[in-house]
Amino acid sequence: MDYKKAINFIVSRRREDLAEADAFFKRLLSARPEFRQAELALRAAQLDFAKGKGSEKEVKRLEKIRDDVIDKLGVREKLYPSPHCKKCGDTGRTGKEICGCVKKLAIETRGDCVQFPMRLFEDADFSVFSERDLPLALKTAAELKAIALKGAEAKRKNINLLGKTGTGKTYFASCFAGESSLAGRTVVFITAFSFVDRALKYHTSFTADKAEQLSPLLDADVLIIDDLGTESMLKNVTAEYLYHVINERQLNKRTTLITSNLSIDEIAIRYGERTASRLFDKKLCYTREFDFKDIRKIDI
Ligand SMILES: [Zn+2]
Repeated sequence: MDYKKAINFIVSRRREDLAEADAFFKRLLSARPEFRQAELALRAAQLDFAKGKGSEKEVKRLEKIRDDVIDKLGVREKLYPSPHCKKCGDTGRTGKEICGCVKKLAIETRGDCVQFPMRLFEDADFSVFSERDLPLALKTAAELKAIALKGAEAKRKNINLLGKTGTGKTYFASCFAGESSLAGRTVVFITAFSFVDRALKYHTSFTADKAEQLSPLLDADVLIIDDLGTESMLKNVTAEYLYHVINERQLNKRTTLITSNLSIDEIAIRYGERTASRLFDKKLCYTREFDFKDIRKIDI
């Protein structure tokens, strides 16, 4: 489930809870004379008070009586159901921020592929970057966020985050995933290792459901392949399926983000020129070679 769907789920679950509470209230009115009596007496007093006749004290007294009846019947939670999330009151947002309950639900209900934290750039801790690296880190974050927000409209659909381990590539990828998900796009995250595992299953399977191995990778609006270069090179599988997936996605104008410890040249040698030319097509790609100092403490 992406962030947008998770928010919708949380908000409509709250709406259903309240509708159920309302139906329960109506049933209670007809089934419990003591509640009905307390409720009607309170309403009459409130009406009088609104007209300037009764007293506030009387309203308070009748409120108390009604409250006591509710507690005696033990129906408070049914009449006034608490939100599932106290932080956002089941609105999914705390101010402008996405509430943690949304992120949790989105992650818990994610389909297959790797469980992977989705983040937002605004939550990123840039203090981990050195003074030298900070401007480029901020620039990269802003550019990636802009691409994520443009979604299918973005021109640059192949994003390559290259550089040594611990420079923040995967962290940036997880923020890109979060922003894309928030914009309503489906995101699939997979390690290069799992990618090859799926490709191999597809390649060696003759069952009707074999397409399930590759279709999430082809159909997701955003595919993230993490740590390209760490997987095993299987003959007729690794390079071939990587090309197939990247090429298909490019033809269908879908976004693919890879992170890799390899350089552009090393990628060309390992996977072949045609894959490299797809990944690094100048018009269609956004490539950032990270030479940030080790910020492994934030890397995932
Ligand atoms: Zn919440």
